[in-house]
Amino acid sequence: MTAADDLDTITERWTTLQERAGTRPTSTWPPAMGITRLMTDEERADQAAERADTAPDAPGPRPTPVDIDVLDVMTTIETGLITAADWLASRVQRPAFKAPTGHGWSDDTHRAAVLLAAKDAADPRRWKYAGPRTAPDAAEWLALRLRDAPGPFRRLDEGERQAVAEVAASGVELLRKTLGDARRRETVPHPCPMPCGGQLVVEGGDGAPPKVLCEDCGRTWTEVPSDAA
Ligand SMILES: [Zn+2]
Repeated sequence: MTAADDLDTITERWTTLQERAGTRPTSTWPPAMGITRLMTDEERADQAAERADTAPDAPGPRPTPVDIDVLDVMTTIETGLITAADWLASRVQRPAFKAPTGHGWSDDTHRAAVLLAAKDAADPRRWKYAGPRTAPDAAEWLALRLRDAPGPFRRLDEGERQAVAEVAASGVELLRKTLGDARRRETVPHPCPMPCGGQLVVEGGDGAPPKVLCEDCGRTWTEVPSDAA
């Protein structure tokens, strides 16, 4: 694994971390996936009624409580990555080109210079020192710098590569400790729609696409893109 791969891992698994922390209220676990489309309309209506029920022991998905330990890990990883990106950008990112003030320039030349300066300052490849910056933003930007992607930057020296690699390694280690490499496995509150009517389980949460599996007949379902998602 290179340091850039470590950064890719953080980017790819950040959503899983958010789900584990319970900070993605729109997401439910287990994921509904295609299995909901196998229910009859009556079952669907029952499930909607259950969801509307506010009794704490009501069946159906409940809101996940926020996990403070996972939030701490996320803050640590995010702070490390953003601090590293701020630091690296201050060293390798070329300051935006400044348009001349106009003395001795024709209007056309001046206008062209102003446009060029504005375009250079707004180059989306630049790291932004202010505004909302997320862990994936920083991880992606740092990975591009390690891979010498083009842009208003000079190449990193060995010391800079090493410093970014250390931040990436400690971030990915924290992420792995928190999420684990194992897939989660939970039962699904619907019988298998095949004649066996067996127990369904859902596996996922490790970054790979989740999968529903019948423990009796062994049939599996994977998520298909849908407008219901
Ligand atoms: Zn089955």
